[in-house]
Amino acid sequence: MSVLPILCWPDPRLSVVCDAVSSVTAEMQDLADDMLETMYAAPGRGLAAPQVGHLLRLFVMDVTWKEGAPAPQFFFNPVIADASDTMATHSEGCLSIPGVTAEVARPDRVRLTWTDRAGVTDTAWFEGFAAACVQHELDHLNGRVTLDHLEPSVRVRTVEAYEAYKEALT
Ligand code: ZN
Repeated sequence: MSVLPILCWPDPRLSVVCDAVSSVTAEMQDLADDMLETMYAAPGRGLAAPQVGHLLRLFVMDVTWKEGAPAPQFFFNPVIADASDTMATHSEGCLSIPGVTAEVARPDRVRLTWTDRAGVTDTAWFEGFAAACVQHELDHLNGRVTLDHLEPSVRVRTVEAYEAYKEALT
């Protein structure tokens, strides 16, 4: 496995609607494993394939590892099959937009259908932080980032803070 470079917004590859993964080959499993290692190294709780330059419908997630119990999950061709009417707002960070967070309102429960790392179809409900995370990662597969959820004035302020953060790093 290897750690891959993570693209930073506004890289144009973060604004692309990604292609379906036609089958979960060994090559796709290797990519998913590299993405997981990259996510842990970042460190983060979710990472989508376009964030490492692969314009494919794949993301990895582990919402509990920072609390001590790793539970990696691999999502090929994920689809939201159902969502609650109730919304929840989380302060979301993004490995491609380091240094800032965005308050994003999303359904607080979603049912996701996907193909797992073994090529088997799976479905499950996610709620709370995990629900926000799967929707955040799925947004990446549709070329959408947290900033695209913000009101124009909030977006301007957030982008300014992000640019200041990046400037301070150089
Ligand atoms: Zn992100």
